Amino acid sequence: MGMQVEERNEESVVEFDIDGMQKQKPIRVHGSVRNQFAVDGTWLRANFHCHLARVKEDPQWPVTALEHYRALGYDVVGGMCHDRIIRPEPVDGVIVIPGAEVSCGGHLLGIGIESIPDGSGAGERIETISEMIRRIRDCGGISVLAHPFKSAYTWEELCAFCDAGLDGIEVVNSNVRGKRADSGRADQLWHNLLREGRLLIAIGNDDAHGPHENIERSGWGGIPHIGFTGILVKDCSRKGVMDALRAGRTYASEGPELRSVSVDGEGRMTVRCSPCVACHFRSVGGSWGGASSFPDDGCADAGEFVFDFAKQGYRVSDYMTVVLQDVHGRRAWTSPIKTVVDVEEENQVNLE
Ligand SMILES: [Zn+2]
Ligand SMILES: [Zn+2]
Repeated sequence: MGMQVEERNEESVVEFDIDGMQKQKPIRVHGSVRNQFAVDGTWLRANFHCHLARVKEDPQWPVTALEHYRALGYDVVGGMCHDRIIRPEPVDGVIVIPGAEVSCGGHLLGIGIESIPDGSGAGERIETISEMIRRIRDCGGISVLAHPFKSAYTWEELCAFCDAGLDGIEVVNSNVRGKRADSGRADQLWHNLLREGRLLIAIGNDDAHGPHENIERSGWGGIPHIGFTGILVKDCSRKGVMDALRAGRTYASEGPELRSVSVDGEGRMTVRCSPCVACHFRSVGGSWGGASSFPDDGCADAGEFVFDFAKQGYRVSDYMTVVLQDVHGRRAWTSPIKTVVDVEEENQVNLE
């Protein structure tokens, strides 16, 4: 089934077996976390959905666009175009990933494909998109569902796309101005899929289309460039980026930056990040699924948050995602981290 988290096995698994509490009740917590972020690597800033087709307004396009992203601190640009592949001149300091935004009843990003898969067909949307997902994978690409709200998918369709091997979803598509009606965040939709075991990776993009989008309003593209994907690569190359996507070493962001996620044998998950006012650890389990961590008393924000499995582990099963929130309300969401927790009541333990 595609490259969802279940099949990622290159990273180490941390296990722990600790005393804990479930509210007032002593418990034993057995945990196992497959933390894909526990690798030596480099964090890159990526926008996998930037339209690089030539535009009348700027004969130098798309070089202007690539230089613009480099100046903004981006390292990776996914060169997208509707239904065709373009090959821009390289620009130093920017890794360009080929790809296309394929129209097939909805919009599907094929990241890393060098040609457009044949035949998007004219059948039912559910089958057309599912087939395109399979073809993108056959072409060596990663499939990501673009701006899911725009296409108003049904739940049945979304589950079918996951069954066909969909790899990821735009949790953030920051091209939400004007007609796009603030539909750029798909986090709750994505969480609902995660809860059903559809462990899609999190991608954040700005979906910029060119300089004609009101350049005077907020810089190039009329888009504030808040959407990006943080990606942890083992080597800074096109292959390194594709490998990191396949391993789920990504987060989708509107601003906050993740620095590390580590898990120790005592059952503590430590997150380091740019200054944030809250860190939410979302999962399934307990009555809410996960728990939140806030800065220590007296701090407005912090660069480190801890999830303690001894106290909150009973609220977790199957996976965890880390959600960062900064003082402006901007958020970032990590791809799911596969996590298994078993809880035993202490008196059961004592009987053994
Ligand atoms: Zn689109
Ligand atoms: Zn687009």
